Amino acid sequence: MVKTSVSLLRGADTIGGSCIKINHGCDSIVLDYGMPLMASGGDALTPGLTKSPSLENGILLDVMGNEKEHINKPLAFIISHAHPDHYGLVDHLPIDMPIYISDSAHSLMEIGNVFYSDEMKINRLPSFIIYQPGKSFEIGPFTVKAYLMDHSAFGACSIHIEVGGKTIFYTGDFRGHGRKAKVNEYVKSRVKEPDVLLMEGTTLDEGHPNTFATEKAVEDAFLEVMKQDSDPIFVAGSGSNIDRIVSLYNACKRSGRILVLDLYQMYMLDTLKKHAPGLPPHADDHIRIFFPRNQIESAKKAFGNDDFFRFSKRHINIDKLNFDNTRYVFRFSNYSIKRFIEAFHEKEFKAHLIYSMWQGYMEKQSSFAELELLTDSKWQYIHTSGHAYLSHLKSFACEINAKTLIPVHTLKADSFSEHFKNVVILKNGETFGLPNK
Ligand SMILES: [Zn+2]
Repeated sequence: MVKTSVSLLRGADTIGGSCIKINHGCDSIVLDYGMPLMASGGDALTPGLTKSPSLENGILLDVMGNEKEHINKPLAFIISHAHPDHYGLVDHLPIDMPIYISDSAHSLMEIGNVFYSDEMKINRLPSFIIYQPGKSFEIGPFTVKAYLMDHSAFGACSIHIEVGGKTIFYTGDFRGHGRKAKVNEYVKSRVKEPDVLLMEGTTLDEGHPNTFATEKAVEDAFLEVMKQDSDPIFVAGSGSNIDRIVSLYNACKRSGRILVLDLYQMYMLDTLKKHAPGLPPHADDHIRIFFPRNQIESAKKAFGNDDFFRFSKRHINIDKLNFDNTRYVFRFSNYSIKRFIEAFHEKEFKAHLIYSMWQGYMEKQSSFAELELLTDSKWQYIHTSGHAYLSHLKSFACEINAKTLIPVHTLKADSFSEHFKNVVILKNGETFGLPNK
């Protein structure tokens, strides 16, 4: 009988950099090949390491089975979602290696490839093979089906694999408190008792407070600030977190404020509308667009010299600000935020700072502290995690009811047994052989 097994190449004791190999006899496929965010156990990575990934410095993994002379060379790589800690290393794969991604995640990455710095771009993107969530496809002996998940990356999917009569379900990154929380019910009704569940556990450490339990709570908290305070509001948040942009959009609409985004975010929303027509912008709404010079250059290169003019009706810059009505909310990079704050200071207006992403990023970038000094104020934290909190992980795992649950994407694999049934903890590089039925 052909043996089926799961090798956890990375993700046993880290958040980010996930990589899982599913083996069936001599065939295999790999789920995710992400850039690590941290070293094993959560320590900071040696600076500069991720700029020159290699097998020697431990950033690249022996995903091709080189050490065993290409025994078990994978048939394909399947990417769960468009976050660099899940796809960031795919440019290091052999050029003929098929890489799969969901249609909507592909669209998100296409826009990223236009506006990101060169080191963040994925050169292989045009050759990616696109899968549709809900439609199964075959790779060798593997039948693969992706399910849309509720996560802070648009188009994020879980991956269900059937091979040799066995079933393996990888959650990817997900949560149960965002704008697409309902999709979890769909997943739970279709994925039942897999042989193996690979489930993320990002929030089980202390770095993910649930002060705001849901995306809706975040929107309401934004609204409170927008109503109380008449100062311009500057929001630091992931430019590609579509759920969060929608929260800001809704809160601005409810409070009568103007939401100012940049050209990159406008292109992203405009592109993703083909997957989710309800997304902003909508005709004559309250979105205005700032065109940073570098983004104009990127847009010209990718879409032609004139394409960005179609957004010019919404254009705003410092000269066009209406200082009689300061009810603006800006979602920019810190560099642009600084310039706009200085413009408001010149007219003796204050600025309100809202921090709306994972707290870990604050420590990595000194510009956050600089903006506090500039405004003589503190960032107000309004954020909910892109990852499921414990109560949701528990109900999800309970309903899926896998025969074996393997923790991934977590610093707290050792605490899984306290919360979930049938846990098998793998170390990085370890393989779990599925028992023959
Ligand atoms: Zn993610």
